[in-house]
Amino acid sequence: MSDQKLAAIMEAQRTAFNANPNSSWAERKTNLIKLGKVINDNELAFQQAISEDFGNRSFVETTIAEMAIIHAGIKHALKHTQKWMRTRKAPTAMQFKPATNKIIPQPLGIIGIISPWNYPLQLAIMPLVGALGAGNRAMIKPSEYTPKFSVLLKSVLGEIFSDEEVYVAVGGVEVAQEFSSLAFDHLLFTGSTNVGRIVAGAASKNLTPVTLELGGKSPTIIDESANMKLAIPRITNGKLLNAGQTCVAPDYLLMPQNKIDGFADALIKQAETFYPTFAGNPDYTSIIADSHYSRLQGLLEDAENKGAKLRTAGDDDTQVMAQERRIPLTVVTNTTPDMKIMQEEIFGPLLPIVASETLEDSMKYVQEHERPLALYWFGEDKAKRDHVLKNSISGGVSINETAWHVVQEDIPFGGVGPSGMGGYHGQYGFETFSHMKGVFFQSKFSGGKMLFPPYTEKTQKVLGLMKKFM
Ligand code: NAD
Repeated sequence: MSDQKLAAIMEAQRTAFNANPNSSWAERKTNLIKLGKVINDNELAFQQAISEDFGNRSFVETTIAEMAIIHAGIKHALKHTQKWMRTRKAPTAMQFKPATNKIIPQPLGIIGIISPWNYPLQLAIMPLVGALGAGNRAMIKPSEYTPKFSVLLKSVLGEIFSDEEVYVAVGGVEVAQEFSSLAFDHLLFTGSTNVGRIVAGAASKNLTPVTLELGGKSPTIIDESANMKLAIPRITNGKLLNAGQTCVAPDYLLMPQNKIDGFADALIKQAETFYPTFAGNPDYTSIIADSHYSRLQGLLEDAENKGAKLRTAGDDDTQVMAQERRIPLTVVTNTTPDMKIMQEEIFGPLLPIVASETLEDSMKYVQEHERPLALYWFGEDKAKRDHVLKNSISGGVSINETAWHVVQEDIPFGGVGPSGMGGYHGQYGFETFSHMKGVFFQSKFSGGKMLFPPYTEKTQKVLGLMKKFM
């Protein structure tokens, strides 16, 4: 794809937007309804395409972690967007009365969406729901790691939207680079922190505002008050969904040394209950590409060479597993900070455990590392829970659960610092993709004329009076 092609699409979207810069609720509603329908109608095709791109992606996971989230997001947007679109009254300070203030939400124009491969449908469509609900047009660049999915997405969205409404740019990194250099009115990027830096740099040349949905190492703190019967399956599930290739997967656990062995054994047992076999199991997702498979194996080798103990779930044939690019849950104990597994985002089914004796130790560990996308705390002691919530900074939190905060449409989803900036979902997405325009309505009885020049003693008196009211 050439620069001109993408630039021409953007130009066409811009012209169409300028002709109708504030689409009605009826138009937005129609867009959201037809988007939901076409995605639903193509559920099987999406399951198949994504699975082919992964080698194997559980169809059920595609339904749970992509289709269901989109369905809920669209339903929520259909219920609330008309209210979010309304002009809001805002307070007016005493000295400006009887004037009034209002906030008018206004579509921004053209939203760019760059999405990753791990949940390729959900992470392209959820930003689109926000963009369309806010009355915008959009251009989407899906990942080159999911080529079958990307072609399908282009054809499915092409059935219901013209290029001037929603355009999907398919291609490799060079297309992504061109794409990120376009002068969007807002660019939402989901992907790695490193590429996020490059994308933010490209957007800054156009002063395009960005929302960066990035990754990082999300800690899970296991308090001694935790209900282990609940914690173990929830953590195992959060870690093994999509074979750990989830931005908010628990990256590592923090817990007292004397609890680690029992906990690690229980996690392995739980994984074997969830997946009686890993090889050939349609429920268990493959690693996306050979390069990612080798990277994960490299993390294990490095950890083992530096003294870690590995526990591996199942006893599947390692050759078959390698051919299928599948890795079972591998719990890593005796970890030390020099291990690569403790330094980079894992993004796979490997779960290191770090010994941490007290809440203070765990908090110190979290504070001394980069601000994560998610933080998980398991326990029943409410005072400790509140201490963690108040004193740790992460994009979001689930308490006694992993990942579920992401699917709550009534709270913002996003990172902080190296794990991202800005947020979306529900009303937060609507506002991200809107210009919340502040408007001041002056009254004919305004006292502003008392401050007109020439400045005299009378002006000083008025200023003195104003200070009393300000
Ligand atoms: P990635 O950063 O490699 O790629 C993401 C997108 O960026 C792709 O569409 C790719 O084509 C594009 N891209 C690559 N190079 C580019 C460049 N030079 N300029 C512009 N665009 C470019 O990420 P990935 O491997 O697809 O996804 C995994 C990462 O994404 C992990 O770090 C994960 O934590 C993160 N992630 C975050 C969220 C979230 O919501 N915060 C969700 C899923 C994944």
